[in-house]
Amino acid sequence: DEFIVVCEGVPDSEAAAAMTERLRAAVRVPVDVDGLTLLPSASLGCTLSTGDVTADQMVAEADAALYRAKAAGRGRSELFDEEMRRVSRNQTELRGQLLTALREQQLRLHYQPIVELRGNTIVGYEALLRWEHPERGLLLPAEFLAAVVDSDLDVPVTRWVLQRAATDLVELGRRSRSRPFISVNLSARQLSRPELVADVQAMTAETGLAAKRLWLEITEDNLIDHRHRPMLDRLHALGCRIALDDFGTGYSGLTYLQQMPVNVLKIDREFVARVGADRVSAGITAAVTDLADVLGITVVAEGVETAEQAELLRGMGVGMAQGYFFGRPRPLADALTEPATTAWTRAVTDPGVQPLDTVNDSMTTG
Ligand code: C2E
Ligand code: CA
Ligand code: CA
Repeated sequence: DEFIVVCEGVPDSEAAAAMTERLRAAVRVPVDVDGLTLLPSASLGCTLSTGDVTADQMVAEADAALYRAKAAGRGRSELFDEEMRRVSRNQTELRGQLLTALREQQLRLHYQPIVELRGNTIVGYEALLRWEHPERGLLLPAEFLAAVVDSDLDVPVTRWVLQRAATDLVELGRRSRSRPFISVNLSARQLSRPELVADVQAMTAETGLAAKRLWLEITEDNLIDHRHRPMLDRLHALGCRIALDDFGTGYSGLTYLQQMPVNVLKIDREFVARVGADRVSAGITAAVTDLADVLGITVVAEGVETAEQAELLRGMGVGMAQGYFFGRPRPLADALTEPATTAWTRAVTDPGVQPLDTVNDSMTTG
């Protein structure tokens, strides 16, 4: 359902715009199908050759413009412009650098503790991706993740994340003499890749990690996308825990929790931030927690930054929490050396005590 039209002798962007309008009009012809009249429409992305571009580049440019046209609403057309050119150049450049990053081992995982609220103990860690850029320093996912998940890089990067996380978790478990779990983030592209199951199996087999100690975090839009259902079922059958990330920001609704293989629900930090401030958010959080309890789903509150929030959430029966109050994401070595008791345990009982972890994440290095 995608076509490329190549036109010669189009002098400028105005002529190009006129051309796309004619194409759109040509498509908008009513068709009769079994007595039903359908009106087709087309979204168009257009680019003008600058003389020094290759065919591949032109296709990529038209594609970028098409992407923008679709994002702006159906049945529109967009012309590739300088801004898109800049973004697309940056992305291409970034991808090249990321390939090097993989090869030269510049990627890092930082670990943020997840605590059980009742006992105030660390029960697991979320693995968060970082890039130790040779010139720009330590980069957060916001600066490079889009270039990963929108490309073929997603496969080797996720494979690396799974392996690294599993190896590190064995180390974390050995040093802390506990059995923490590790939680890894998965993109939509991963869920549509059949090899993911084999990757997860390889990872657990190589490291001796029990599958139930591996949590896989997915977002709501991926949960409600039915195409992902067989994959989720397979991962679930392996014994992995499926965690619904950023709950409260999407549209999944509560019915999905019952229908889908979900073990963990992570309440988004924007929601948690409001818990202390408004009664409606507090009420919704409490209700969701009760329902999750009935369904046997573990609730994790994300982005807990104050003792007051921790206290409120505990009072609502929320089982686990994660956030700067309990600990920032840290390199493995720091996660290992940091005493698991300390400031936040005291701070919970005495709000006058500041939590230990106030060092900025971007200042720590791997
Ligand atoms: P996320 O899965 O929602 O991860 C939690 C984010 O919130 C992390 O940002 C973490 O540093 C931050 N955070 C934790 N506690 C607090 C808090 O108390 N307050 C505030 N304001 N923020 C807090 P980070 O590390 O920048 O990661 C951003 C996103 O990138 C993640 O959001 C996740 O969606 C994605 N991501 C990270 N690592 C991976 C990965 O290996 N694979 C994939 N596909 N996505 C990843
Ligand atoms: Ca996450
Ligand atoms: Ca999250």
